[in-house]
Amino acid sequence: MSENRLHLSKTLYTAIHKCIRCGQCAYGTQEAGYQPICPIHMARPFFTNTAGGIMQLARVAHEGKLAPSKSLRDLLYLCTGCEACEANCSVITGQVGIINMLKKWLNTNSVPYLKGHQSVLNNLLKNKVPYAGRVENRLEWLTAEMKKEISSSPHVFYFVGCASSFKETEMAVSLANILKKLDVPFSLSGDEWCCGAPFNYLGLGKECKDWASHNVELIENSGASIALFTCPTCSMIFKKNYPSWLGRGLPFKAMHVTEFLDSFVGEGRLKFTHKTEKSVIYHDPCHLGRGQNIYDAPRRVLSQIPGLEMKEFALNRENSFCCGGGGLLPAGFPRVADQLAGHRSVQASEKKPSLMVSSCPGCKENLKLGAKRAKIRIKVKDFTELVNESL
Ligand code: SF4
Ligand code: SF4
Repeated sequence: MSENRLHLSKTLYTAIHKCIRCGQCAYGTQEAGYQPICPIHMARPFFTNTAGGIMQLARVAHEGKLAPSKSLRDLLYLCTGCEACEANCSVITGQVGIINMLKKWLNTNSVPYLKGHQSVLNNLLKNKVPYAGRVENRLEWLTAEMKKEISSSPHVFYFVGCASSFKETEMAVSLANILKKLDVPFSLSGDEWCCGAPFNYLGLGKECKDWASHNVELIENSGASIALFTCPTCSMIFKKNYPSWLGRGLPFKAMHVTEFLDSFVGEGRLKFTHKTEKSVIYHDPCHLGRGQNIYDAPRRVLSQIPGLEMKEFALNRENSFCCGGGGLLPAGFPRVADQLAGHRSVQASEKKPSLMVSSCPGCKENLKLGAKRAKIRIKVKDFTELVNESL
C-alpha cells in the first residue's frame, strides 16, 4: 500500500465500484449512431482512455496500487472537460469531478505540469489572464464611442471573459452593440479577472476562491442585477462553481447571452431587420449545452433571422462533439486540439452550410484553426456577431 494514495470518500469509492466498464461514456447515444464522442478516447482509443478507464485508475490510486506519475498526468490532461461521459453514462455521475481530484492528487505529490500549462499558470498569477503579451488593457476593444454607452446604473454587467477581451474581440464589440440597439443599460470593468476555470482545470483550489471573490465583488459593486457572458465556460463557472467556492449564492443572476436574448424573443423585443441568405450549422459548445442545459435558446434566437436556414450536425445537442478547445487542451496538447477541431469541421462540411456558428470564443478560435489545418473551407462566426449583423 502506497503512502501517498488518493483519498476518496466511502461514498465516492462505492460509486466508482458501480462502474461496469462498458465504455459507453466514450460514445454518443443510439440517435447519434453510437459515434465516438470522448476526445481522450478519440486521441488514444483504449478503454483506459475513457472516463470509465479513469474511474478504474482512481479506484486503484485509492487502494494504493497506482503511484502519481507524469504518464497519468498526460492522460488526465487530454480531458477537455466536455462532460460527454456524464451525459452518456447511465450508471454513475461525477466523472469530471473525479478527474479533477486525480489532478489535485498529482499536484500534492509534486508531479510537474506540462510546459504549456505551467505558462498558463504563470500568466494567470502575474497578469490575471491566462495569456502573455499585451494584456494590460482588457478594454482595448472598446471604442471611444462605445465608452459613452457605459451606464452608472446598469441593468447588466457584461463580464467579457479573457478570450473575448483579447482574442475574439469581435464578440465583445458585437455584444456591446446589441445591448445599445436593445436599449439595455450596461457596464463592464477593466479590473475583471479570469473567471478561474483554468485554476480548476489545473487542480488548484485557493486561487479559484480568490478569483471568484474578486469578480463577484466587482459585479456586486456595479449594482447590476444580471451578469452577462459571451463565454459559456465563464457563465458555467459562475453558476455551478462560484457558490460552492465562495460558500454563498450569487448576489445577481448569471446569464449567457443566448439565454438573455432568448428572453427578448419571448417578450417580442428582438426585431431582426436584415435578411440573410445564409445556411448556418450550429455547434453546441460543451459548457453551454451539457454544462448548462442550454440548447434551444440559441436556435430559437437564430431562427428569428429572416431568410436564415438552420442545419444540424449529426452529433448535436447532448451528443455534441467537443471542438477540442476545452480543459486547456490547446496549451497542453495543441496537435490533439487541432485534430479534434479538424474532425468537427469535417462533420460540419458534410452538411454543406455557408457558415458554422457557435456561442463560445474558445469554440470559435479553435474551430477556425482546425478548419484551416484540415483544409476545410468554411467560415466560422459567433452567435453574437450574427445577431448583431442582423439587428
Ligand atoms: S463510467 Fe459509466 S459508461 Fe463509462 S464505463 Fe463506467 S459505467 Fe460504463
Ligand atoms: S469530460 Fe469529455 S474528454 Fe473528459 S473523459 Fe469525459 S467525455 Fe472524455
